[in-house]
Amino acid sequence: MKKKITILPGDGIGKEVTAAGKKVLEQIGECFGHEFIFDYATIGHEAIELTGNPLPDETLKKLKNCDAILFGAVGHPKYDNDPSAKVRPEQGLLKMRRELGLYANLRPIRLFDELLGASSIKPEILKGADILFFRELTGDVYFGERGRKNGNDTAYDTMIYSRYEVERIAHKAFKAAQTRSKKVTSVDKANVLESSRLWREVVQDVAKQYPDVTIEHMFVDAAAMKLIQNPKSFDVVLTGNLFGDILTDEASQIAGSMGMLASASIGDTVGLYEPIHGSAHDITGKGIANPLASVLSAALLLEISFGLKEEADAVIRAVAQTLKEGYRTRDIADASTLHEKLLGTEVMGNVVCNQLRMLVSVNS
Ligand code: NAD
Repeated sequence: MKKKITILPGDGIGKEVTAAGKKVLEQIGECFGHEFIFDYATIGHEAIELTGNPLPDETLKKLKNCDAILFGAVGHPKYDNDPSAKVRPEQGLLKMRRELGLYANLRPIRLFDELLGASSIKPEILKGADILFFRELTGDVYFGERGRKNGNDTAYDTMIYSRYEVERIAHKAFKAAQTRSKKVTSVDKANVLESSRLWREVVQDVAKQYPDVTIEHMFVDAAAMKLIQNPKSFDVVLTGNLFGDILTDEASQIAGSMGMLASASIGDTVGLYEPIHGSAHDITGKGIANPLASVLSAALLLEISFGLKEEADAVIRAVAQTLKEGYRTRDIADASTLHEKLLGTEVMGNVVCNQLRMLVSVNS
């Protein structure tokens, strides 16, 4: 298979972790005989410094002309501490999602058994948890009308959804549920918000087309509590942009660390794959970021955009084997981690590639 992949490292640890994700894709190409052609583009703070624009036209052109995108993260402390900055790195991210029509964000919350102890939640509550989030990505308060009034002393953001936006992501969630445990939990705040009442109405309509799937509706406050209390009670979770943003970060604790969670943003054209974490200024440049979320994002890319299930499974097995042999980055290490198995970002990526080579040579 011959495919063009655009690498969009972005800012901070985005650059460090995507280097590992790319290396794993190269290794897959070598092991399975695929030709992946890589191209780079800029976004976020780096792009603002270079061009004044967080999503330059040249980047957008490259993204529209490739087969899949591996993205890192955007963000810089300069903007976090200056809410009045007019041009901001995350504008590049939001524009990219909108321009590419990436309306569905898939976030698998998969817990590797070896990391049961790395979470702050009790292992007996966690073991066996396997959740697939569908977060709507191009609507909600992030894209509704916003502004200031009353002499700048009142601010507003509009939470807004249209029927077609809910329908298209609901179909994706129900279809995925048919291949899993046949249960969808739709999360909203329909007891208070009108946009949530529309959300629930549309999900109920879509559910009628999937009689084999059980639908459950839950308010977001209850869902936030239940995620920690009994994560195994969830299978596919369907929710809006804001609630999904918050709940998936909370759910990252099930997997032990933000550094373990991958995501796929898909629509009707090219797919974008990225870790759920940000640019992590506190550890940027130290070489200690966990690259496994980017590596697992590469696995999602192989499966969803290229249909390469065997290759994607090989990546996941290589990560599992790496963890089984005791290798850890600092965020997932515990008292039992041997000093020589505590790895930096680059070496962790290399170990996964070695595991891949061994796995593939054993199976061939
Ligand atoms: P963050 O996800 O960058 O970091 C949160 C915490 O998790 C930090 O302590 C960090 O060190 C740790 N962490 C994150 N990823 C890790 C990894 N791979 N390995 C080890 N530890 C890891 O969130 P934040 O600190 O709230 O935000 C930092 C910047 O990132 C901000 O500028 C924010 O706007 C941006 N951000 C970008 C995205 C994105 O590009 N998709 C998402 C979230 C935040």
